[in-house]
Amino acid sequence: MYQYDCIIIGGGPAGLSAALTLGRARRKILLFDNGTNRNRVTQESHGYVTRDGIKPHEFKEIAITELQSYPSISISDQTVIEIKKDDQQFVVNTSNNISYLTEKILLATGIQEEFPIPQIRQYYGKSLFSCPYCDGWELKDKPLAIIAESEAHINHMTKLLYNWSQDLIVFTNGHQLSDIIQNEFQRKKIMVYTAIIKNLHGDEGNLYSIELETGENIVRSGGFVVPSFYRPNNLAIQLNCQVDENGGIITDNAGRTTVSGVYVAGETEKAGPSSLMIAAADGFKAATSINLDLTLLRF
Ligand SMILES: Cc1cc2nc3c(=O)[nH]c(=O)nc-3n(C[C@H](O)[C@H](O)[C@H](O)COP(=O)(O)OP(=O)(O)OC[C@H]3O[C@@H](n4cnc5c(N)ncnc54)[C@H](O)[C@@H]3O)c2cc1C
Repeated sequence: MYQYDCIIIGGGPAGLSAALTLGRARRKILLFDNGTNRNRVTQESHGYVTRDGIKPHEFKEIAITELQSYPSISISDQTVIEIKKDDQQFVVNTSNNISYLTEKILLATGIQEEFPIPQIRQYYGKSLFSCPYCDGWELKDKPLAIIAESEAHINHMTKLLYNWSQDLIVFTNGHQLSDIIQNEFQRKKIMVYTAIIKNLHGDEGNLYSIELETGENIVRSGGFVVPSFYRPNNLAIQLNCQVDENGGIITDNAGRTTVSGVYVAGETEKAGPSSLMIAAADGFKAATSINLDLTLLRF
């Protein structure tokens, strides 16, 4: 069986940044990435200083080219399906039925979205987005939809988005809004439709209108949606990592989980959205913890 200092599961900004830091610290690393990063649907990523507007696949390609300068780093596109603790080591099993041994594990597997209505998927990353900081600039001053179901999410997203466009219509997909919020929105000329959404209409990912079960068809040319987020695998649970009441994996704020030898970085830690920069910084932080722990163990 191949033996590594650390196996990283996930090659988004968190895992890639951790791999770079650990490779530079002369650690033997294997990074798995199966290409299911949630931002693969978008045309451009914004806000990562020096890389504003980069395509997600280019971001990954540049990072992998950088990693290839360090001979102790290997990369695989296999899917990790199981991790078992075996004494002081971990056995990592992949969907190709290959097992790998490692001293440390870094979970950087990100999160995935679940939408209020499945048709959103066709527009997500092209004209519907979830993060105004990431994509608000590109949609500024356009007639936008906000699709969200809980009052807290609607309130937050609408007020935030008003900074980028004042032509906003809220769609609650069958959920009611309190009079207080409705009145606040009315004062800003923001309409609210509480009817269930029947369909979205558009072409090649470009939204044209939102059809309601009442028969109304409201013209919009893009917008923002508030999805639910979840971890796409149960690796943290398999490893018995403790989670808090919100589903966040409990850490020491430097990437160490409650299970010795298991670390976490990026969006999978909180099971909530962040950004490329935050995920990359998390990866760096977890990598320094992994390296320090290995160093002290072996010194
Ligand atoms: C439509 C959209 C647009 C966005 N735009 C921006 C933007 O403009 N700017 C910005 O800063 N952020 C943006 N984001 C958010 C950004 O993509 C995330 O914050 C960031 O990618 C999180 O990094 P991560 O490393 O935690 O996870 P991810 O980037 O999701 O990476 C996790 C990786 O783990 C791998 N993986 C998961 N499970 C396994 C497994 N079992 N085996 C092997 N591999 C596995 C996946 O293949 C994936 O590549 C956007 C997101 C979306 C959805």
